[in-house]
Amino acid sequence: MAGLNKKSVDDINVKGLRVLCRCDFNVPLKDGKITDDNRIVAALPTIKKLVADGGKVILCSHLGKIKTEEDKPSKTLAPVAKRLSELLGKEVKFAADPEVVGPNARAAVAAMQDGDVILLENTRYRAEETKNGDAFSQDLASIADVFVNDAFGTAHRAHCSNVGVTKFVKGPHVVGYLMEKEIKFLGQAVENPVRPFVAILGGAKVADKLNVISNLLEKCDTLIIGGGMAYTFAKAQGYEVGTSLVDDTKVDYCKEMIEKAKKLGKNLYLPVDAVTTEKFPDPIDDATIETKVVDIDKIPADRMGVDIGPKTIELFTGAVKSAKTVVWNGPMGVFENPVLAKGTRSVAQALADADATTIIGGGDSAAAANQMGFHDKMTHISTGGGASLEFLEGKELPGVAAADDKD
Ligand code: AMP
Repeated sequence: MAGLNKKSVDDINVKGLRVLCRCDFNVPLKDGKITDDNRIVAALPTIKKLVADGGKVILCSHLGKIKTEEDKPSKTLAPVAKRLSELLGKEVKFAADPEVVGPNARAAVAAMQDGDVILLENTRYRAEETKNGDAFSQDLASIADVFVNDAFGTAHRAHCSNVGVTKFVKGPHVVGYLMEKEIKFLGQAVENPVRPFVAILGGAKVADKLNVISNLLEKCDTLIIGGGMAYTFAKAQGYEVGTSLVDDTKVDYCKEMIEKAKKLGKNLYLPVDAVTTEKFPDPIDDATIETKVVDIDKIPADRMGVDIGPKTIELFTGAVKSAKTVVWNGPMGVFENPVLAKGTRSVAQALADADATTIIGGGDSAAAANQMGFHDKMTHISTGGGASLEFLEGKELPGVAAADDKD
């Protein structure tokens, strides 16, 4: 398997053992209700396997950010336990515990039978979680014989529940099926792609994607840049970009990338026209916003580019049509607004129609593809935005590195 030489749940026998399984249940919630359960669904194959093998399955995850005590009630994992029970067709006991691994959780674990499933409270209830400290890592390890990491979405972070804990769980530390699948698709696309390989980057900031741009230029045949980050490139090409999002500190970097593409003989496709508005939509989904399409070198001083224009859509989707592998990360415009979502929708449609391996690298582009109903039309939609980006940068993910190597 490309990029992964780690032990997996297929390499261990968990019968009668306490299996601590780190999942990524960091799902969007509105008024205590889960609005998108893709990440829970993606975790099911590993959980089912551990149950079928007779393990005592103790699930854990983080959910959102917790800055103060007041944040905690709205960030409980209780709704996830409920949804998971429905999806599994089996009771998932929620081990409510303010310490995550405190007296309540320990009692729940002690009462488990083989094949039972419980879910611990949000690991970020413990402030040490994100610091990868020993105390919480040891607490987690004290209720586990075996550790399974299936949380791709947090694999780029070294926290107690995905990295620190492996220091203290004596039994094997392995990856789950979701982790394997994510690395397989992303790894094959980048290391061994069927060509032409087209990479598409979008989203708001160039700065967030510096290393990805450079690394992907080396691997792909064509690199397409859209979204807010494209205007820093437009400036690097010598154009005025009005009030569009620009990172002036990265203009030189963009020039370098344009040069690098030339030197390597790669296609670098940048927008040739833009949908512009007078100001950023407020509220963001204001559908009455007035728009005007202009060529990229004619953006008026008082307007901003908020989506790619029709000529750019032609250019970008044309490249996708002849591709055999496509990796996409980041929307082409302010897709949250229906009037400014055309570029993102057209690119998603082109991926859906392409006779190619199509991979969406999590985050906003995954949300856009899901929202627009293209979910079943892609080869793979990653559950991890930041993790997939770091993987595409060529970085080692600490959550993956912490698992045992295959013999
Ligand atoms: P990122 O988190 O970097 O993937 O950026 C996603 C965000 O970029 C979305 O919220 C989009 O609304 C925003 N975005 C995309 N295109 C533009 C643009 N041209 N100007 C400002 N924001 C944009």
